[in-house]
Amino acid sequence: MHYESTRDSERRVTPAGAILMGLSEDGGLFVPEVIPTLPEGALSELREMNYRQRAVYVMRLFLPDYSVAELTDTVSRAYSPGGFDTPAIAPVKMLDRNTGFLELWHGPTCAFKDMALQVLPRLLTSAAAKNGEKRQICILVATSGDTGKAALEGFANVEGTRILVFYPRDGVSHIQKLQMTSQEGRNVGVCAVNGNFDDAQTTVKEIFSDPGLREELSRRGWMLSSANSINWGRLLPQIVYYVSAYCDLLNAGDIREGERVNFCVPTGNFGDILAGYYARRMGVPINRLICASNKNDVLTDFLHTGVYDKNRDFYTTVSPSMDILVSSNLERLLYELSGRNDRETAGYMASLKEQGRYQVSRGIREGLDSLFAAGSCDDQETKAVIARTYANGGYLIDTHTAVAYGVLEKYRRETGDDTLAVVVSTASPYKFCGAVLEALGERPETAGPELIGRLEQVSGVPAPRPLKALLGKSVRFDRSFDREQLPGVVRDFLA
Ligand SMILES: *Cc1c(COP(=O)(O)O)cnc(C)c1O
Repeated sequence: MHYESTRDSERRVTPAGAILMGLSEDGGLFVPEVIPTLPEGALSELREMNYRQRAVYVMRLFLPDYSVAELTDTVSRAYSPGGFDTPAIAPVKMLDRNTGFLELWHGPTCAFKDMALQVLPRLLTSAAAKNGEKRQICILVATSGDTGKAALEGFANVEGTRILVFYPRDGVSHIQKLQMTSQEGRNVGVCAVNGNFDDAQTTVKEIFSDPGLREELSRRGWMLSSANSINWGRLLPQIVYYVSAYCDLLNAGDIREGERVNFCVPTGNFGDILAGYYARRMGVPINRLICASNKNDVLTDFLHTGVYDKNRDFYTTVSPSMDILVSSNLERLLYELSGRNDRETAGYMASLKEQGRYQVSRGIREGLDSLFAAGSCDDQETKAVIARTYANGGYLIDTHTAVAYGVLEKYRRETGDDTLAVVVSTASPYKFCGAVLEALGERPETAGPELIGRLEQVSGVPAPRPLKALLGKSVRFDRSFDREQLPGVVRDFLA
């Protein structure tokens, strides 16, 4: 099996090559040339497995150039009892008869990004070896908050790699910032960018597509790669938890074999929900994928109108990991829904770059309408959802998950669709203590990690250990830069 670029399907690379390069040189994203389907009876087999075995099973279908032993080793280290605080790894909690929460925040940094970023470093270093790559790998990451920390934790002290993370200076929560700026490890760097997430992401993409800079770094023994969700190695481990959640629902008797379920996904860069799309294509009985946005509702508008238009105000919200106007992974979906038309996909992306907008074809719109639903929640609604969910039985959710649950409730009211739905729960509420406390009627005066204890007292829900450990950590990285300075920052980091 090969992978091809969404902007030029003649550009073909091996699976390991796709993971190593991250982004195609034409600016496109790599996708598998065919999406493997689950063979007859696979779900019955997968039901009997634990999370790690399910991960090997699914990943093997997409990565034929990795051995089963290699994948087994990668997955066992990634989803280890030391890193995850529950043996289920990604448990589904049923809130009522037809609403489940897929908890993806039991890993070392308490957000769903761990699901992929605990796996990616090993996929990447194996890929380098398979490709006979002699250079060391420098990972560049633009983060809206959670990716940065998860990538730092995944790559810290990994031989042959360095990692440099850029986050929007005023665009992440206090706890997210401290998680990153206190990161330990000899191969890590963290910088604030004066701008928002899109500024950081666009600059990182420009650095990747700057042949002069790449060549200069290459001469010095470095290759650049990405840990952003544009890397296939990020997306693939995310497909696993959709498959796994379906198996868990079957095992718990919440659904019958073959019964379809909906997933409602709090969405920013479109990586998480796209993994759900691939799971559906593989044959997991998924009915609708419901895309939930915060006040930055560019995706909601897109899914309702077929017009993607980023020329709009950017809002800073209580769900910062979704404060995004350019959802990179949408490109992969456009490629699939256009019938894998590289010219058409490249055209949309050129129009996005030049005019900040594009309108998709009728064919794509029909595809979108048949698979997706969409909605948004502003901050006030989000907090009301947190309060309500906690009041009805003590279940505490974070701001991102609350956006999704709020959108699911609206969807159900509007459509009457009461299919069992799984809300993808993407972060521990303790990563966003300030907003969650406010939702519960408190008035926190500060924003630091001292709020963790306060939220524990107010809610009676224990905080995850890695977040409690932040109290007393010191800041190692405190510099901020303008966009134009970032190429220089990369040069210095690798000097
Ligand atoms: C990254 C993130 C999201 C958005 O996921 P995408 O894959 O970017 O759509 C939602 N919630 C949390 C907590 C996140 O960290």
